[in-house]
Amino acid sequence: MFGLKKYRRKKIIAKPFPHPWLNILQRDVAWYQKLNQTDRAELRRHIQIFLAEKPFEGCRGLVVMDYMRLIIAANACILLLHRKTDYYPHLPSILIYPAAFIVERKNLLPGGIIAQTRQVLLGESWHHGSVVLSWAQIRYDNRHPSDGKNVIFHEFAHQIDSSFAREDNSTILKNTKTFNRWAKSLGDNYRKHRKNVTQGQKTTLDRYAATNPAEFFAVATEVFFESPKKLKNASNDLYQRLAEFYCQNPADDER
Ligand SMILES: [Zn+2]
Repeated sequence: MFGLKKYRRKKIIAKPFPHPWLNILQRDVAWYQKLNQTDRAELRRHIQIFLAEKPFEGCRGLVVMDYMRLIIAANACILLLHRKTDYYPHLPSILIYPAAFIVERKNLLPGGIIAQTRQVLLGESWHHGSVVLSWAQIRYDNRHPSDGKNVIFHEFAHQIDSSFAREDNSTILKNTKTFNRWAKSLGDNYRKHRKNVTQGQKTTLDRYAATNPAEFFAVATEVFFESPKKLKNASNDLYQRLAEFYCQNPADDER
């Protein structure tokens, strides 16, 4: 990391964490209370840097309030605890829509036919680009902190996923041997999930996780942070792979 960036970040975290922000974390971010004091302090530092560096943009007339920025930053930054981070280095901005938004896509079909599709989305993460979020969905997720669904965790997991093998990673990814073992094990979990979905069996992760490995990782991240005990009981192997990746053990109340 360049010296200037390090120096700038040091200055940002030297400032006191604003009291109104702290009140919001304590009141409106359910899992904040479950963190120990050291982790809370680390998270607050991450939030300060994240908010100082990442621009937010309101779409379709939405006015971005500090409250919205804080809730998004808190959720995005819990994925960064306990390891060296460069704060989603390939993320230029966060776009917020008031509610679900429609995207139009052009897909190339066999025979050179271009099909135009319209999709209604709650969130989206562009490879090397912005994260797009629905504020209505964030509010819903915030009121249901243990249902295993969280659009912010999901989209920021995609951001982390797309920076694999680059600078912003867990210690297990530093060593090729451990990474290969880890990736194989995660892949086994993905294939097992796909098989269970295909056979119509009950699964801990929802069916969408069977779409592809990237969606599997994003959906598993949501469940890992929102319903860690449930995931650990249902699939201890998958839980352990995520615990290794995120360097966190959310199923442990005393963390
Ligand atoms: Zn996704």
